Amino acid sequence: MKSPEILIIYTGGTIGMVENHETHALEAFDWNHLRAQVPELEQFHFHIDAITLGDPIDSSDMTPDDWVRMAHSIEDNYSSYDGFVLLHGTDTMAYTASFLSFMLEGLDKPVIITGSQLPIGQLRTDGKENLLTSIEIAAARNAEGKAMVPEVCIFFENELMRGNRTTKINSEGFNAFISYNFPALAKAGIHIEYNTHEILYNRPSTTSECYDILRQKKNGEGHDGLTVHYLYDNHIAILTLFPGIGEGVVRAVAQTPGLRALILQTFGSGNAPQKKWFIDILHELNRRGITVVNTSQCERGTVEMGRYETSLQLLRAGVLNGYDSTLECVVTKLMFLLGHDCTQEQIRHLMSTSIAGEVNIR
Ligand code: ASP
Repeated sequence: MKSPEILIIYTGGTIGMVENHETHALEAFDWNHLRAQVPELEQFHFHIDAITLGDPIDSSDMTPDDWVRMAHSIEDNYSSYDGFVLLHGTDTMAYTASFLSFMLEGLDKPVIITGSQLPIGQLRTDGKENLLTSIEIAAARNAEGKAMVPEVCIFFENELMRGNRTTKINSEGFNAFISYNFPALAKAGIHIEYNTHEILYNRPSTTSECYDILRQKKNGEGHDGLTVHYLYDNHIAILTLFPGIGEGVVRAVAQTPGLRALILQTFGSGNAPQKKWFIDILHELNRRGITVVNTSQCERGTVEMGRYETSLQLLRAGVLNGYDSTLECVVTKLMFLLGHDCTQEQIRHLMSTSIAGEVNIR
């Protein structure tokens, strides 16, 4: 078997910082001298290249255009490498992972996204562990020579998680990410144990059905089985409910110019106040062709509309179910579907269908 070739793509974030020993200031790490900075890489007996994507940025500054640039870089290098490690700030890493998982149709190579809480050039950094294990996972192949994890994932503190299932939960500890509603795809201890029953080796038939719908609109170019979809539309808003929320606030959000989709962050299993003005606004949004999706403020578990009277009225107002998906996933999936000019009916159908293992529909 030919030895694997891995490409590291650095986009920014804490991981790419080193401490200047004289001034103690954090400075950007030079990924062109990767092997000098991380000598442990010599112990991998395969080829590793590293590139920096534009100017490194803090991930709080990321926009969908940066996701497009990342996808271009994966597409341009797809036939030359067997796996990709994307280094990224942690703050918006889960959004990037979700969006990429929808963009990369037919992905059969690992795209492992990682970063760190402490700069790679600092004593006690978690960056080296995260980087080295991510490279090992990106290069791992089974007995048939196929990638062990042909998915967009986040690796952090010994856990490999499906990217579109993750949420950042910790701004200090090394365990920065969690996948509340889906099991880990691998755990790194003395050995890396892969959870092969959960890894998407054969995408569900719903995946191709979804992409066929998107293809009727506009479509990316195919490359070695990979087709990248670059379209997005960010005319969406998130409204977090709280007891006592005022009509003025809800109306102001509903009247946002250009709005195409609204994500409601509801209570418990998807419940909302039964106030008439609130339900009237939802009906009005439905009439205006604006998609409304119900996600819960409870991150573990699923939305079950109709379980209580307080969610039945949302169902009647045409609100869609976000099921057990993360907020990051719903934001990026809506941007993706709206970008392809899907009709409201198509969005209704695709939001209730798994494209990249992002949701469990009961
Ligand atoms: N603010 C940084 C970022 O997300 C934090 C990090 O890198 O973890 O880019």
